[in-house]
Amino acid sequence: MGNNKYKVLIVEDDRTIASFIQTILETNGYQVLTAERCRQGILVFTSHLPDLVVLDLGLPDMDGEEFIRQIRSVSTVPIIVLSARTEEADKVSALDLGANDYMTKPFGTGELVARIRAALRTSRHAGLIPELPGGNFVAGDLVIDFDRRQVTAAGKSIHLTQTEYNILALLSQHTGKVLTYAAIIREIWGGMDDGSVKKLQVNMANIRKKLGCRPGDNRYFINELGVGYRMLDE
Ligand code: CA
Repeated sequence: MGNNKYKVLIVEDDRTIASFIQTILETNGYQVLTAERCRQGILVFTSHLPDLVVLDLGLPDMDGEEFIRQIRSVSTVPIIVLSARTEEADKVSALDLGANDYMTKPFGTGELVARIRAALRTSRHAGLIPELPGGNFVAGDLVIDFDRRQVTAAGKSIHLTQTEYNILALLSQHTGKVLTYAAIIREIWGGMDDGSVKKLQVNMANIRKKLGCRPGDNRYFINELGVGYRMLDE
């Protein structure tokens, strides 16, 4: 990477956690900026334009969600949310506001570095998708041909319904990122009703079966329970 280091902004008021993350990231070759408050974070973001933000949701001056709202109005920078809260609702609302990923404290060094790498990889690819009508998506032995709307897995052609195909294509366009149930449902069916989540789960089960996944086999995507689905990129 040389002089071309990725810049990561850490917005976290707990100094022990902030310096733990800073040490890990510097050891792994990242340049680190820090802020202890939401407003300060927004200022540092605007003046340094980091490549990625690690954001604590519980900040003293404003809720971290307000940070996501403000940054998302001007930037698509990947945001990884840190939460001490384990409630599903916080993760879901942060993701629906546009955070790319979340981690629940306490987390390990390996997990943090892996999530940051994945988020940076996704953001590099994300900019390309709108300029590529058609083309192929490839992850491991899974290939999606967007021009022909055809899917193959392990060399075998997979016959999906329109809806199943649309869901798989949507997930593939956000590889590495958790898409919440609500976000997928909005894209595929246009709106939520009481049966929507169940309908999505049934479609996902069918997709898994057609791709040859047994129960518990997370080869292509993971169900983040109570939150949404994440397509894997390798
Ligand atoms: Ca905090």
